Amino acid sequence: MTNKTMGEPVHLALPEGWPVPHPGCKVCGALAAERERAQASGDLSKVSDCNVEIREHKDAHPRRQR
Ligand SMILES: [Zn+2]
Repeated sequence: MTNKTMGEPVHLALPEGWPVPHPGCKVCGALAAERERAQASGDLSKVSDCNVEIREHKDAHPRRQR
């Protein structure tokens, strides 16, 4: 039996410690795209900058009530 989870967004395999951008947030999405570009070009200090920004931006998101 294959264990495929349908209906869930496909997660790119992020390296450990990388914050996940908030879904639906344009700022996070832009930061994540920039982070990927920085990683592709080997600019690790920029990658870490983007990680910090994504992590800190998380706090700016409205919390969902359950
Ligand atoms: Zn955000």
